[in-house]
Amino acid sequence: MNFNRRQFLAAGAALGATGAIAAPSSPLPFLIQMQSDPLLPKATGKRVVICGGGWGGVSAAKHLKVLDPSLDVVLLERNPVFFACPMSNKWLVDVVDAQFLTFSYLDVAQKYGYQFIQTEVTAFERDKKRVVTAQGWIDYDYLIVGAGIRYNYEAWFGNDRKAADYTKAMFPAAYIPTAEHFKLKQGIQNFQGGDLVMTLPPPPHRCPPSPYERACLIADLFKQRKIKGKITILDPKPSIMPIGGGYKDAFEELYKDQIVYVPKAQIQEVDPFNKRIKTTAGDFKFDHSILMAPHQAGDMAWKAGVIGRDAEGKLTGWAGVDPFFLNLKDDPDTYVIGDAVGVVSPLFKYYPKAGHVANAHAKIVAKYITDRIKGRELKPALPDNLCFMMVKTQPQEAIAVRFKYWVNDKGLIVQDQDDDNLRRPELVTEDFQWFAGKVEDMFG
Ligand SMILES: Cc1cc2nc3c(=O)[nH]c(=O)nc-3n(C[C@H](O)[C@H](O)[C@H](O)COP(=O)(O)OP(=O)(O)OC[C@H]3O[C@@H](n4cnc5c(N)ncnc54)[C@H](O)[C@@H]3O)c2cc1C
Repeated sequence: MNFNRRQFLAAGAALGATGAIAAPSSPLPFLIQMQSDPLLPKATGKRVVICGGGWGGVSAAKHLKVLDPSLDVVLLERNPVFFACPMSNKWLVDVVDAQFLTFSYLDVAQKYGYQFIQTEVTAFERDKKRVVTAQGWIDYDYLIVGAGIRYNYEAWFGNDRKAADYTKAMFPAAYIPTAEHFKLKQGIQNFQGGDLVMTLPPPPHRCPPSPYERACLIADLFKQRKIKGKITILDPKPSIMPIGGGYKDAFEELYKDQIVYVPKAQIQEVDPFNKRIKTTAGDFKFDHSILMAPHQAGDMAWKAGVIGRDAEGKLTGWAGVDPFFLNLKDDPDTYVIGDAVGVVSPLFKYYPKAGHVANAHAKIVAKYITDRIKGRELKPALPDNLCFMMVKTQPQEAIAVRFKYWVNDKGLIVQDQDDDNLRRPELVTEDFQWFAGKVEDMFG
């Protein structure tokens, strides 16, 4: 028979009452908690609970405390350490090491006086302003959901969990900070030659220029090690984007013998067991693969019930938030930030799903929340975006893309995109400076 904590307490109390044994005042160690326990004591002031400690969540926690040190800020995250996906393509080919990408949640939480709790968020009871985690429930005044993304394997495999699990285990996308990255690195570093096929997700997906960067850096590795490997990029889009010119030049001038780019290759069938892919641009067999299923908002966004609906009432797969204030129209105390955010403008639809944007969203929302608490007027603010992509390692060269956002006279958000196609070493320096700046902004 299994006892839960409450039954154990009740049984202990009953036995104690009869004098059979002395009831221990606390039968479980203090930090071991059940889902039905309160996670933390009730807050004395306003409490902001942040679900997901990725680029968005970890930035929000720090900046809320910077803006208002009296706030009770709690960050809930399933991973024990922060692993930065930006720069991870460079780590795959040993330009940087794992330490360069990993950061301590506990240190920054101590420094800024917020609470970091490593736990799985399991449910949301927004009517009660409550989040349920594997270690207990917690009430909030304001909720920030920084859910990141999930892989929509259902689009490929329906309810065939075996196929999804096999794909994830054997041919991981490594677009979510997990052990997948280590498996992918092992696969690339041990690759002896043959056909390596990469499927790109359809838009919108996390960091649109990064799959091409990954292809370039793997091609660079094969070239240096004289591995007879061919990388086939299956892209559902009609052409490379963003930074199409810069990548096209890199593919043609640097990796003619290594990279085959196939546009308009929409996935029709994936058979991971027999290593076959059927697309609208033909059928492909592979020796090894990086199988990137379509992306959607991460699991927490679904559990929180924040996924938007399109004009026909169908779920969009992304959070339906106010484009300026990033909160829900019917629940203004719930905010969504980062990659999980859905359409923000009919002109370009989605912000690029980038750490830079998630970090900017976090600071914007931190300001909205603290202004609301202080009774100040809210001034709508928009993010910007900036991505550098390394295409060559000896010497190191990169290309880049910048985005600016503004509001037109119809009240719609407009996106200006500037592709920097000329590969050069100075952009590598700027990339490392960009990363150091963001790390400082989140953890410094
Ligand atoms: C290869 C690659 C290269 C990239 N390069 C760049 C770049 O150069 N520049 C750039 O700006 N961006 C880049 N990105 C994109 C960037 O990593 C993402 O846009 C960013 O991580 C989004 O932040 P987020 O907070 O929305 O989501 P995430 O950072 O994914 O955070 C979500 C968090 O929620 C946690 N979580 C999820 N579910 C639960 C749950 N149930 N309970 C508890 N915790 C949970 C996750 O563990 C995760 O930590 C790159 C991404 C990849 C994969």
